[in-house]
Amino acid sequence: NPIVVVKDLTKSYTTGTGTLTLFRDLSFTVATGEMLAIIGASGAGKSTLLHMLAAMDSPTSGDVLIDGTSLASLKPAEQADFRNRTIGYVWQAHYLLPEFTAEENVAMPLLARGESQPEAHEKARRWLTEVGLAARASHRSGELSGGEQQRVSLARALVTEPKLLLADEPTGNLDAATGDSIFDLLRRLHATHGTTTVMVTHNHQIAARCDRTLVLHEGHLIPSEIPA
Ligand code: ADP
Ligand code: ADP
Repeated sequence: NPIVVVKDLTKSYTTGTGTLTLFRDLSFTVATGEMLAIIGASGAGKSTLLHMLAAMDSPTSGDVLIDGTSLASLKPAEQADFRNRTIGYVWQAHYLLPEFTAEENVAMPLLARGESQPEAHEKARRWLTEVGLAARASHRSGELSGGEQQRVSLARALVTEPKLLLADEPTGNLDAATGDSIFDLLRRLHATHGTTTVMVTHNHQIAARCDRTLVLHEGHLIPSEIPA
């Protein structure tokens, strides 16, 4: 059962010199529980595609259905609401609030949904334990290392139990060993919780450890021949 259905998705920009088409008529699905990697050269449009799966950017034409909901049919305010209820997002940069503790950062999306302080903080602590950071819960996120901050971001993205986790170069700002440990964590969390995950990466070794890899190349999305 696909949770993500991408239908004839096209994205073009009008530039000073003409039209730049990033991709045209992309169609693919992501099965529920799958961990999909999208790779491709810098500038190929991977981040743009991921933003469209999160209704953070609009396609020129085509549509994305998430769990049966057509993103094109939603008004902007409804898109934001749908995104908050359905999707978790991890970026290359972590976008944590540095003056707030790790626990406060993870609790924030739950408080934004109206959950009580005790409930939100209890869940935040549970997720920090799951990402191996129980001992850092009361540290300000700005005082944590890059790898630790990315663990907090993962906890924050998953604490709402999203149906879909989108990860844009989640290991991109980290040294190789730390990046590998973050990917190991992502893989383990995926195995435990089964959250459907779409990850953009330029790291072929990491992509090869996902369930499936698609390559965005010259506007087309093609299955990768890299053996898993
Ligand atoms: P990737 O994630 O694969 O590196 P991106 O999705 O970030 O690629 O960007 C794809 C291309 O789209 C880049 O070349 C970028 O310059 C271009 N682009 C992004 N936004 C705009 C815009 N508003 N107008 C024109 N070109 C844009
Ligand atoms: P890049 O593709 O250049 O590595 P990112 O994937 O980290 O950059 O972010 C892509 C875009 O999304 C950027 O323009 C960034 O400002 C925006 N962005 C990232 N995180 C957030 C967020 N939490 N809320 C709103 N916009 C964000």
